[in-house]
Amino acid sequence: MIDFRSDTVTRPSKAMRTAMANAEVGDDVYGDDPTVNELEFWAAKRHGFASAMFCSSGTQANLLALMAHCQRGDEYLCGQQAHNYKFEGGGAAILASIQPQPIDNENDGTLCFKKLTAAIKPDDAHFARTTLLSIENTINGKVLPLSYMAEARDFTTRNNLALHLDGARVYNAASALNVDITEICQYVDSMSICLSKGLGAPIGSLLLGSEALIKSAKRWRKVVGGGMRQAGIIAAAAKIALEENPAKLQQDHDNAKYLATALNRLPEVSVNLSHVETNMVFATFAETIDITNLVTKLKNKNILVSTANPMRLVTHLDISQTDIDCFIQQLTNVLNANTKA
Ligand SMILES: *Cc1c(COP(=O)(O)O)cnc(C)c1O
Repeated sequence: MIDFRSDTVTRPSKAMRTAMANAEVGDDVYGDDPTVNELEFWAAKRHGFASAMFCSSGTQANLLALMAHCQRGDEYLCGQQAHNYKFEGGGAAILASIQPQPIDNENDGTLCFKKLTAAIKPDDAHFARTTLLSIENTINGKVLPLSYMAEARDFTTRNNLALHLDGARVYNAASALNVDITEICQYVDSMSICLSKGLGAPIGSLLLGSEALIKSAKRWRKVVGGGMRQAGIIAAAAKIALEENPAKLQQDHDNAKYLATALNRLPEVSVNLSHVETNMVFATFAETIDITNLVTKLKNKNILVSTANPMRLVTHLDISQTDIDCFIQQLTNVLNANTKA
């Protein structure tokens, strides 16, 4: 199968499988798993934070960050497109009594500081307490520049807010900006990283922050049922993902450009090439195309894509240029058959 649906679909490498098989383990709820402890210690240091926590998913890492930063009755500012507003089942509100205050994202994915300022509530019993700004980098494949990160830091400091970065794909941002990851991390109080997306680990995310924040987040992790036992099995693969795979993201980004350019040559498809900054391509198909039918026909040729228009296509470790050539060939065949019918 050639799977363009997401960068979460990668299979663990041989080195990961070996590391998982050989991992030293213990009960992580007791703090006894040496492989988890080593990963957390290393990851905190590597990203310039005092402390780190390994957890099961990016959704959980974001939720625990919100729970550690905010009290019941607090609110966090975020984008309408923010994953931790739109795509996490409303967890902050449902599970933590924390209210999101979304703001429209600008076209480049940023949040306008004027609009954010207007959304900060006065200290008055009518309002939730605004305590946190949560931003996302990358957001829908777009990169927030370092200058924006610095402005967000200034904005939050001036307004006495904490700053969380949903960095599910922050390594894609670092790769696209051609900077070390710490150039991005330096501006935020906490950051989540998905290890199971472009970095290719089978399971796991990290939350990074101060010692006090991670201590609180660990408490909440247990409360939401996220305390894991011999988690060294998956932490072993996560460490390899962090050490070996950031350097490979540039290839995914090059492949995304290659894919976007090839798609753009098809008369029924259009892609805004200037929006292809990392590993995501959004392809708009002509209205005459039956997307459901197209998806089924491609599936019969062992190609998986999402049923949506615009269609998001994501490049990752398990997609090569040859796979992209194969996809374009099969897509061309399907579209041609469609025209004849
Ligand atoms: C995927 C993603 C998450 C959540 O990660 P899961 O591991 O799928 O729960 C959070 N934020 C962003 C921006 C993501 O893309």
